[in-house]
Amino acid sequence: MNYKFLPYGRQTIDDEDIAAVVAALRSDWLTTGPAVAGFESAVCAYTGAEHGIAVSNGTAALHAAMFALGIGQGDEVIVPPMTFAASSNCVLYQGGTPVFADVAPETLLIDPTAVEAAITPRTKAIIAVDYAGQPCDWDALRDIADRRRLHLVADSCHSIGGGYRGQKVGTLADITVFSFHPVKHITTGEGGMAVTKDEALATRMRTFRGHGITTTATEREKIGGWFYEMVDLGYNYRITDFQCALGISQLSKLDAWVARRNTLAHFYDIFFAAHPEMGIRPLKRNEDTVHAYHLYVVKHPQRDTTFQYLRNNGVGANIHYIPVHLHPYYRKNLGAHEGMCPVAEAAYREILTLPLWPSMTDADVTRVCNLLRAYSHGQ
Ligand SMILES: *Cc1c(COP(=O)(O)O)cnc(C)c1O
Repeated sequence: MNYKFLPYGRQTIDDEDIAAVVAALRSDWLTTGPAVAGFESAVCAYTGAEHGIAVSNGTAALHAAMFALGIGQGDEVIVPPMTFAASSNCVLYQGGTPVFADVAPETLLIDPTAVEAAITPRTKAIIAVDYAGQPCDWDALRDIADRRRLHLVADSCHSIGGGYRGQKVGTLADITVFSFHPVKHITTGEGGMAVTKDEALATRMRTFRGHGITTTATEREKIGGWFYEMVDLGYNYRITDFQCALGISQLSKLDAWVARRNTLAHFYDIFFAAHPEMGIRPLKRNEDTVHAYHLYVVKHPQRDTTFQYLRNNGVGANIHYIPVHLHPYYRKNLGAHEGMCPVAEAAYREILTLPLWPSMTDADVTRVCNLLRAYSHGQ
């Protein structure tokens, strides 16, 4: 039988989303208009943050965060190795130095003990990643940040819609960053946002998004003026109105999608618990958190051959991630090497990301589970 290919993640777009984008295209504003401000307010209302700065992608939002916090040459920022390279590249963009703190073996979330051990007199900030959608131990990280006077940034590109001890993701760090790439929970095609409750940080990030210029073209048009000043070296990290119209429409479905992701993850959990002979171990789920399940990651004893078997059978398994410090750029330019983060390096050999997205059917999950079982029985 011929099945459709199941990628590890994908967007869900409905007629309402399409109508929202069409309406934006027919409006007077294609960029930096009411939909951008509307999307920022909607994400703030949803997360409980006070200021939102929508930008062209999640990486730009991370860069804006590093700029706003004044990270520069000689500054160290602590980052986890088990993440997408953008989490630490943003430190390099500003001339700072990322310092890797290893993750905990069961959750692959940054280990607060390793963070504390990585602090030096040059440390300025911690970037923690809610890996796979599970919020980090934010109380422990906040305690370290306060005691050691460090800024705390959440790379929550995996965890919008998640929560920790009664608080929504978006309010747990000084600045929280989201991505709206199609594999993430909600999409704008490409897009990102930084949220904060600090007005000064928000102003700096807003200026950074638009070339470091103090007023936007829209604001100047409103007052009928022409004068502007460039006060910082910013970038063009703007996002369009039609993208943000899509974002607003997508956000209205986020809660239902996070719930569906949890249901599907639970389905996998139950299956693997019922078949211990397969040797598949899902990552640990912490108490007191709302897991947003961006990724469903397991540890698998025959990871490489299983990956190939799934791919050969139309299932787009994936690996998240190659530890960042092992990439050639980091080895060459930062002297990073094997052995720096043994927990992440050991996990990397075993982790496998299985398909998970909200419009996946129960039958799709069953198909993945049955393939895995058939393969393990054939071994
Ligand atoms: C997706 C992602 C990013 C980057 O977001 P883009 O929108 O692709 O630039 C950064 N960090 C993590 C952990 C991500 O998953």
